[in-house]
Amino acid sequence: MVSLSSITAGLQPTNKLYLNDSYLGTVETTLLRYVPETRRSGYFVTTDTIMHPKGGAQPSDTGTLESANFKAVVKKVLEHSGVVVHYGDIKEGTPREGEKVSMMIAWEERYRVMRLHTAGHIVDYAVVELLGRDLLSSRAFHGPPESFVEYIGRVGGIDLASLERISNVVVKASKRVYPVWVPRQELLKTVRGAPNLARLPELETYRVIVIDGVNAIPCGGTHVANTAEVRGILIKKVEEVMDGFKVVYDVADCPL
Ligand SMILES: [Zn+2]
Repeated sequence: MVSLSSITAGLQPTNKLYLNDSYLGTVETTLLRYVPETRRSGYFVTTDTIMHPKGGAQPSDTGTLESANFKAVVKKVLEHSGVVVHYGDIKEGTPREGEKVSMMIAWEERYRVMRLHTAGHIVDYAVVELLGRDLLSSRAFHGPPESFVEYIGRVGGIDLASLERISNVVVKASKRVYPVWVPRQELLKTVRGAPNLARLPELETYRVIVIDGVNAIPCGGTHVANTAEVRGILIKKVEEVMDGFKVVYDVADCPL
């Protein structure tokens, strides 16, 4: 196993195009570094990426990389010190550092994650509507096999049907969803209904995902542009976990 710090040594942070446009399914970029793991697999770093790495409550994107010289399948995307590393299998040829490459996302899986992530922010809004924001959220995951948001505290008083109803009112209201970039001094003015602000890292600028009139939460994930694209939210269960409770949800393929 090659270490991520040796793969990324001396490289500038990757230009993460998905932060401004999560609908990019392909991009032409430059292969900055290729570190083979075996004869048929290795690690790719490119100038730009449209692929979201594993982390920030989202699963890794997958897809393909290809040039005039090679074809590769990207199986996992990781990040180290701002540099995004694509790991995958070589299907054909040999990559050459400095060459132009086309990157393509496995779009169906990614689009579902976009719907699930926006649904996660909506479910959080619905939980806060029912129980109040003095509740602390602990963990979340917005992807298959199971999407959930977790909170610290007792589960008492949460009604699945009400949670689902409030969530789907937001979906049906076709609210715009978009990122804004705010300096640290303006973060508290911009966020609305956001959990765990005390746990945020100290940054110069924060990316905040705004759902118009609903909430505004610091987040680095990929979202749909309108809540209507979520189509429907199913609250599958609310269960007790070690220090609190977990709301398990999914997106439905038809409006609810
Ligand atoms: Zn998020």
